[in-house]
Amino acid sequence: MDFDKLREQMVKTQLISRGIKDKKVLDAMSCVPRHLFVEDAMVANAYSDMALPIGDGQTISQPYMVAVMTELLELHGFEKVLEIGTGSGYQGAVLAELAREVYTIERLPSMAERAMNTLSALSYNNVHVKIGDGSQGWPEKAPFDRIIITAASPNVPPPLIEQLTRGGILLLPIGTRYSQTLLKIKKKDSGQTEEYHTPCVFVPLVGKYGWDSDE
Ligand code: SAM
Repeated sequence: MDFDKLREQMVKTQLISRGIKDKKVLDAMSCVPRHLFVEDAMVANAYSDMALPIGDGQTISQPYMVAVMTELLELHGFEKVLEIGTGSGYQGAVLAELAREVYTIERLPSMAERAMNTLSALSYNNVHVKIGDGSQGWPEKAPFDRIIITAASPNVPPPLIEQLTRGGILLLPIGTRYSQTLLKIKKKDSGQTEEYHTPCVFVPLVGKYGWDSDE
C-alpha cells in the first residue's frame, strides 16, 4: 500500500475540504505515519475517515477530529503540552511535531506501553508517557501551556485548570457518556473564557474527576 499517497489524500479530502486551515497542522498530519499507530488488522483503514478500535474497547480518533483539536490548541512551537488519554500515541505524535514537549497520560498500562514503543521507534523523544489517572493532571511537570483531554469528560477537572499557565488553553470533549461538545477554555489573568465548538463522541474519561468506570 502507498501510505504516503493515502495520507496525502486524507489531508486533502478529509481536512482541507472541511476547513482545516492551519498549514502547520496540515503538514504535521501529512507526515505522521498513522498506519503505524493502529493494530495490524486495521492498517488498511488507517487513513479512512473514521475512528478505529485500538484494543481494550478504546479508539484512535478520526483524523478530522485530531486536526480540529490540534488547530484549536493554537500551537506556535514553544509550548509544553499535557495530553490526557494517550491511546495509540497518534495525537501525541501530531502534537510533538508542533510543540516543544508533550507529556501524555494513559490509565491502561498495556495501552501506554504500546504507545511508548511506537513513539520511541519513531524517535519522538519529546513525548513523555506516564501510566495513571490523567484527570488529576501531572503536578510534578506542571504548569502546562496547553492541556488536551482526548476522552469524554462530565465536567472540567479542577486540577487541570490549576496546572494550566495564564494565557494557556484547555480543550476537552464535555457532556454525557455518549454525546459531547468540544469546549475550549482560555485561562486569563482575571478568570477564563469559554467557547463551545464541534459536537463529538469520545470514550469516557475514567478517574477521580471523570466517570467511575467505562461500562
Ligand atoms: N489520543 C488517543 C490517540 O491518539 O490514539 C486516543 C484516545 S482514546 C479516544 C481515549 C483514551 O483515554 C483511552 O486510551 C483511555 O484508556 C484513556 N483514558 C480514559 N480515562 C483516562 C484517565 N483518567 N487518564 C488517562 N487516560 C484515560
